[in-house]
Amino acid sequence: MLTNIEVKKMLIAISEMYGEREEELSLYDAVIGDGDHGVTMARGARAAIQKMQSMEEGSVEDFFKAYGRTLVSTLGGAIGPLFGSLFLEWAKAAKGKEMFDVNVLCTGLARGEEKIMSLGGAVLGDKTMLDAIHPTVLSLIESLNNKDTLTEGLEKAKIAARKGRDATVPMMALKGRSRHAKELSVGHVDAGAASFYYLMETMENFVASR
Ligand code: ADP
Ligand code: MG
Repeated sequence: MLTNIEVKKMLIAISEMYGEREEELSLYDAVIGDGDHGVTMARGARAAIQKMQSMEEGSVEDFFKAYGRTLVSTLGGAIGPLFGSLFLEWAKAAKGKEMFDVNVLCTGLARGEEKIMSLGGAVLGDKTMLDAIHPTVLSLIESLNNKDTLTEGLEKAKIAARKGRDATVPMMALKGRSRHAKELSVGHVDAGAASFYYLMETMENFVASR
């Protein structure tokens, strides 16, 4: 379980990771899309770090909500509301709770997945971040049933997200700007699915090294 202050630190660690992955994530998007995904994520990350640092106090809900809102307003385009949804749903799931645990992680991600589907209209197999998110939700539901600790839940979630990301390689992109690439997209990892995997990896690293 993470306290509010640990959640704030984890969100800063996530932002730092997107700063470091800027080039790599843009490269994935360049093969299939317009090559801006890493730049967009890094821009959102810089704004989010500033926002986190400006907040001395806050609950688990407050930090996730501020982070999600910052992403929605600074990422822009379609990706802002889609990716921002994850953090806004983690905020809602944390409402009235002192700690961030497997329950909040699982509930928020499951609702975030639904939100992304209803906002963006993509379905599984369209070669989007959803293909990495969905197996992660399934893994977390299992962790919830097993009463796994947050560390255990995230270890398994990271593996599920990595498999989901890798499963996007043979898929054909149908949604987002990358739909223009169609056949060209086959054989490459989806940028948004990679972004989501790194999000899970960073959460897992943070929780394990605490
Ligand atoms: P854009 O497509 O506007 O250039 P980005 O390059 O930042 O935005 O993000 C591209 C990623 O967004 C894709 O790799 C994909 O994972 C995700 N994505 C695009 N459209 C959708 C959608 N409708 N639903 C879910 N994810 C999507
Ligand atoms: Mg793009």
